[in-house]
Amino acid sequence: MTLAARLSAIDDRIAEAARRAGRDPGDITRIVVTKFHPAQLVRDLRALGVTEVGENRQQELTAKRADLVDLDDVRWHFIGQAQTNKAAAIRRASDVVHSVDRTRLADALHRAADDDGVLDVLVQVNLTEDAGRGGSTLADAEALAEHVLGLESLRLRGVMAVAPLDEDPASAFARLRAVADRIRVIAPEATWISAGMTGDFVQAIDAGATHLRIGSAITGPRPDRG
Ligand SMILES: *Cc1c(COP(=O)(O)O)cnc(C)c1O
Repeated sequence: MTLAARLSAIDDRIAEAARRAGRDPGDITRIVVTKFHPAQLVRDLRALGVTEVGENRQQELTAKRADLVDLDDVRWHFIGQAQTNKAAAIRRASDVVHSVDRTRLADALHRAADDDGVLDVLVQVNLTEDAGRGGSTLADAEALAEHVLGLESLRLRGVMAVAPLDEDPASAFARLRAVADRIRVIAPEATWISAGMTGDFVQAIDAGATHLRIGSAITGPRPDRG
């Protein structure tokens, strides 16, 4: 299958899942995750109409963005674990940061603001029992959201999570949905739910995901990290 065929097949499945869930497919944003692939893939995707792209490593994101400056309508989503000392580089290269999982990182992204610009961010929630995975605990997520609301160079858009491997994604996404609902009480504009990958985007749509992060089903298998 060609890239174009894989993209349209996934978009058909997204639209079908949305309709089955009683949702408008137009309310769902499909981000194509291009990590480990060459910058040319982003160029090929843009030629197919893709404007939302996700990367999970700062150096790779920074390098691709520099290679692709002419693609000025692509929005770059940073979805990886972020080191605090890379916050300035992440901020420079990202339009949206999905992985704000601690107050120190939020503060570092805020301090890295170099003009009047506002960076869209999501609070990442860890749905696993493994504290080593990215994300704040469910219990801390609201306090983190409140902290972000106090940083004027960040705009809290919602929440993000990766489903655990060893659990039905539907039940994990239900916990994410519950925390998203609680955060919306203190931040009515934080309406985004970033959830759903190649293996679980249908369940994510059922649980109310607004932003899907889909990689291999569209791009094909990822090359080795090198
Ligand atoms: C790689 C990655 C994805 C996409 O994964 P696929 O299974 O290839 O769709 C989504 N979210 C995050 C955080 C990732 O690192």
